[in-house]
Amino acid sequence: MTAPILRSLVDLRAATAPWQRAGQRIGIVPTMGALHDGHLSLIAAAKQTCERVIVTIFVNPRQFSSPEDLAGYPRTEHADAAKLARFDVDAIYVPDGDQMYPGGFATTVTVSGLTEVMDGIHRPGHFQGVATVVAKLFAQTSATDAFFGEKDYQQLQVVRRMARDLDIPITVHGCPTIREIDGLAMSSRNLLLSDRARTIAPVLIEQMEEMSEAITAGQDFAAAQEGAIAALMRAGFTGVDYFEMRANDDLALLTAATQPARLFAAAWLAGVRLIDNIAIQG
Ligand code: AMP
Repeated sequence: MTAPILRSLVDLRAATAPWQRAGQRIGIVPTMGALHDGHLSLIAAAKQTCERVIVTIFVNPRQFSSPEDLAGYPRTEHADAAKLARFDVDAIYVPDGDQMYPGGFATTVTVSGLTEVMDGIHRPGHFQGVATVVAKLFAQTSATDAFFGEKDYQQLQVVRRMARDLDIPITVHGCPTIREIDGLAMSSRNLLLSDRARTIAPVLIEQMEEMSEAITAGQDFAAAQEGAIAALMRAGFTGVDYFEMRANDDLALLTAATQPARLFAAAWLAGVRLIDNIAIQG
């Protein structure tokens, strides 16, 4: 059954009110569209946990640092709706900019600490945009459960912190990263890669896996990091924003895996910024 596409908050609330009255668990899967199997895995997880599932599609202007990046972001609403048809979701919420940010909108949600590293530095204002739109989506949908990908691990931790700090009664579930056969993490931005860049892109995860093995084998972190960055540049990447090991919970910078940790990387390839992260096998 094709789910209704709802474009206004009034229609969304009309749909969710009976579900709430019936005490049903409502799952939300926030996305920016250009849906791929990574997104669909979140929807499958939501379907397993919740009686009702809402997928939201909103390319949130407030989380983009540059107008060119926002303008170039893939938008594929028809194909997205077709992909969602086989999941039997209960609603697809596709608000427009005025619905989310009407004239006079003046509130911004800021999460400190977690947002002062990695993408928080390299994409100024990004996490404020994310936290603000996600807080709104939580309030608009009255969801009991939310599903986010570990692909964007820093974002997942920021959303968890925001929900906890604002006493939003929602359980935030983190779901594993879905990858292409060659290891590249699925991402809507992969659509922007040229054929040649697409063949180079998996070098990012290959270097992260090698580095993870080096750390587990007790090798010096700084030397392994230098080697990985040099290998990326040799392969054709044009810049590396960060290639770091951090603690799972508070994202503190580490140079040895003395606690549950992940490797995080962001690198530029042919004008496209790729990010990825993996757990360090302890
Ligand atoms: P986006 O549309 O890029 O904003 O992503 C929407 C949600 O899908 C976020 O929670 C992402 O972390 C998640 N996501 C994106 N790519 C993947 C992936 N390859 N595997 C799992 N989840 C993903």
